[in-house]
Amino acid sequence: MIGRRDTESGAHFAFTDRWGGVSAAPYEELNLGGAVGDDPEAVRTNRELAAKSLGLDPGRVVWMNQVHGNAVAEVDGPWATRLTPETDGLVTATRGLALAVLTADCVPVLLADPVAGVVAAAHAGRPGLVKGIVPAAVDAMESLGAEPSRIVARTGPAVCGRCYEVPAQLRAEVAETEPAAHAETSWGTPAVDVSAGVHAQLKRLGVRDREQSPVCTRESADHFSYRRDRTTGRLAGYVWLD
Ligand SMILES: [Zn+2]
Repeated sequence: MIGRRDTESGAHFAFTDRWGGVSAAPYEELNLGGAVGDDPEAVRTNRELAAKSLGLDPGRVVWMNQVHGNAVAEVDGPWATRLTPETDGLVTATRGLALAVLTADCVPVLLADPVAGVVAAAHAGRPGLVKGIVPAAVDAMESLGAEPSRIVARTGPAVCGRCYEVPAQLRAEVAETEPAAHAETSWGTPAVDVSAGVHAQLKRLGVRDREQSPVCTRESADHFSYRRDRTTGRLAGYVWLD
């Protein structure tokens, strides 16, 4: 169910795959997204299952209503109302509070400065990469005392540059903002590599400890992929500090 857990740095990072939940096709099994057409009761159960497998209280996980923007919301607990605000980044200085990001091809970006006690989660698709959600998340962490040189960055399963075909004009637009995202598909057409772009931005910001998941969601049957399946579930990435 959980693709990764890393406690070496003092921070916890986790990425789910699609197995171990209760959702029916085409959301089978562990769909964690609440806005993709799945049964809300199944999503609630899946979120509880995932949290428990991570040793987390499901009520201490903060979710986002992601809109491909560059806003980062500071939180110190779950949302007070039932309405989840539109944002593509979360930052907190509250230990034990887990921040979650939903994806199915986009890049889930998890950041932690264990010394400052600050973590952030961000949703970086192609639009977010161009709009600067990554520097916005790092900036929000710095405002809470984090330092880029101490930030540990982990990015999760996402569509790879060899699979993410786009029109030539769009690739040019993305590469103008982030040259590292310029890519070509395995069949020789223009593409973008959002993960490469995210890591180039993090490196430029001074984040040295960076790791990228080797998994391509579009190529992996164990992961949800919007570009492959269109109607499908969402994976989650979680970050928190003890
Ligand atoms: Zn791929």
